[in-house]
Amino acid sequence: MRYRGSKIIIENIHRIYNLIRQAESASHRAEGSVQLLAVSKGHTYSQIEEAYTAGLRDFGENYLQEALPKIQALHTLSLNWHFIGPIQSNKTQGIAKHFSWVHSVSSQKIAQRLSDARPSSMPSLNICLQVNLDDESSKSGLEPNEIAPLAAFIQTLPGLHLRGLMLIPRPQVDEEAQYNSFLRLTALRDDLNQQLNLSLDTLSMGMSNDMQAAIRAGSTIVRIGSAIFGKRS
Ligand SMILES: *Cc1c(COP(=O)(O)O)cnc(C)c1O
Repeated sequence: MRYRGSKIIIENIHRIYNLIRQAESASHRAEGSVQLLAVSKGHTYSQIEEAYTAGLRDFGENYLQEALPKIQALHTLSLNWHFIGPIQSNKTQGIAKHFSWVHSVSSQKIAQRLSDARPSSMPSLNICLQVNLDDESSKSGLEPNEIAPLAAFIQTLPGLHLRGLMLIPRPQVDEEAQYNSFLRLTALRDDLNQQLNLSLDTLSMGMSNDMQAAIRAGSTIVRIGSAIFGKRS
């Protein structure tokens, strides 16, 4: 059973890489311009090891308590860990010490705490600002008009390196509707670059069900969980 499981993970990864290559080429984007982030929440460190043997180096986790034992168990593999979940203030220290990227920053307070806790022996922590385009009060993320002020603030923090924007859109089945949401994030990134004279390159958008539309709209990191590892336990 274990062998069969690992074979499936590797096959899934090859299938997703093919879909990414097809979507890159269909939208006249350079091969390799979209990075695959494997979302490993709910999966074990041996499943992550299987993904590693298929060539993956970047893994995403949503909960610090769940991530730490995996990071510990796999520390010899020198993986890049991305924090993609909601951030509580009391978790900023652990996140700043053990991750290379945080995709879900949406407040000055959290940004300041992450910067303060980033060890000076490590490179700056890569940051994406999470944006909320759907105005649902339950969702976290910045309103479009809050993006520039927080970006300007982060530029002053020595422990952080602002890289771009992240989106978790409202689920939509229609690919054109998905595409239009993603296109709005791309436009917000371009506005931000112009407004603050930056050259942010990163758009963290696209999951298992809307990856193609996200790539067509300019995604540079797709976050894929279940299509690689199967259903979460
Ligand atoms: C869980 C999660 C994903 C992966 O979702 P799948 O449907 O398993 O591909 C991507 N991004 C975020 C922020 C997540 O929390």
